[in-house]
Amino acid sequence: MLVSKRVQNMYPSQTLALVELAAKFKEKGYQIISLAVGEPDFTTPPNVIEAACKAMHEGKTHYTPPTGIKELKVAIAEKYRNENSVDVDENNVIVTPAKLAIFNTLSAFVDPGDEVLIPDPGWVSYKEMVHFARGKPVSYKLDEEKDFGLDVDDLLSKVNFKTKVLIINTPSNPTGGILSREDIKTIRDIVMDFDLILISDEIYEKIIFEGEHISPGVYEDLRMNTIIVNGFSKGWAMTGWRIGYLIAPHRYIPELEKIQQHTISCAPSMSQYAALEALRTREYVSEMVEEFKTRRDYVYKQLSNMRGISIKKPKATFYMFPKYDFDISSKKFVEDFMIREKVAVTPGSAFGMYGENHIRISFATSMENLKEGLARLRRFVENL
Ligand code: PMP
Repeated sequence: MLVSKRVQNMYPSQTLALVELAAKFKEKGYQIISLAVGEPDFTTPPNVIEAACKAMHEGKTHYTPPTGIKELKVAIAEKYRNENSVDVDENNVIVTPAKLAIFNTLSAFVDPGDEVLIPDPGWVSYKEMVHFARGKPVSYKLDEEKDFGLDVDDLLSKVNFKTKVLIINTPSNPTGGILSREDIKTIRDIVMDFDLILISDEIYEKIIFEGEHISPGVYEDLRMNTIIVNGFSKGWAMTGWRIGYLIAPHRYIPELEKIQQHTISCAPSMSQYAALEALRTREYVSEMVEEFKTRRDYVYKQLSNMRGISIKKPKATFYMFPKYDFDISSKKFVEDFMIREKVAVTPGSAFGMYGENHIRISFATSMENLKEGLARLRRFVENL
């Protein structure tokens, strides 16, 4: 029996082939350096782990209400009011893993054939999720010359009467760019003019070195068409806890809650108590961000004077997205780099057609690994 067409048409993660190649070399005893990691190399703050243990010992190991425990929803709404100037209350919040929040939101709004605008370069899962929701992903270009801000003309040329949803991701995986206030205002005009649903993926919000994060929810009219997605994976090094949230206008909550009820039921109970503690944890996060900044500066300096490489300094996240000037696809670049130098990086084409001729380097790894990995990259490009 064949699996559904939707699944047949789904692409596995493009980095998988590379993982297999790396595993082969590892078996042969090679030391592989991975600059392809998508999560902080820090452990979850100890007080957050404690809070989860305490909750479990107290018997909080059962289903919670589908939208999450009240204390956490209250704390999330308070965070958005105080830190992001977004006027929401706990009834705007559904606690759920960030990835599922995006998936469920697309399920809620996309009918077959509806077009969904996704950033390019942009996170690998948007396109597959849109396909899965039976929508049509349409890429809009981020402008490298503007530090991967909006290319307004390109975006406008892609909007039409079939467009239903626009996804933005700020700060961005893979570029490390942040959308400016001006960009958010442009987004506001487009969303309001075409009456779109905006999904604002703000998962990297906590990892910012320069500039400020503007959530589109600051504009009250825009907020009425916006689903904000955020979570604890990146900011508090909690990828394994599967905990995040969405913030939606009240009128959409019952619909989104139905999907939540019939899929995950609720986010993991112990992770919800951990998240509540995470929201009170600031120092650990700022120390982690300081360390990422030191590494960012180091990697940037190294890449700035490497043969055939040009780089925009990322303002946020733990990724760099250098462009190279060699006549070779990013897939081949990455494979050859692995074969010759035993270093894993991610091909730019995994993030869309405008990602071609780039590689994504993650600096969520030790300084020692970065030094060695970049020395090998230097040697590799010298010989291209
Ligand atoms: N959005 C982006 C841009 C991401 O990079 C990721 C994680 N790689 C997610 C959403 C999903 O986050 P989570 O693992 O917390 O579900």
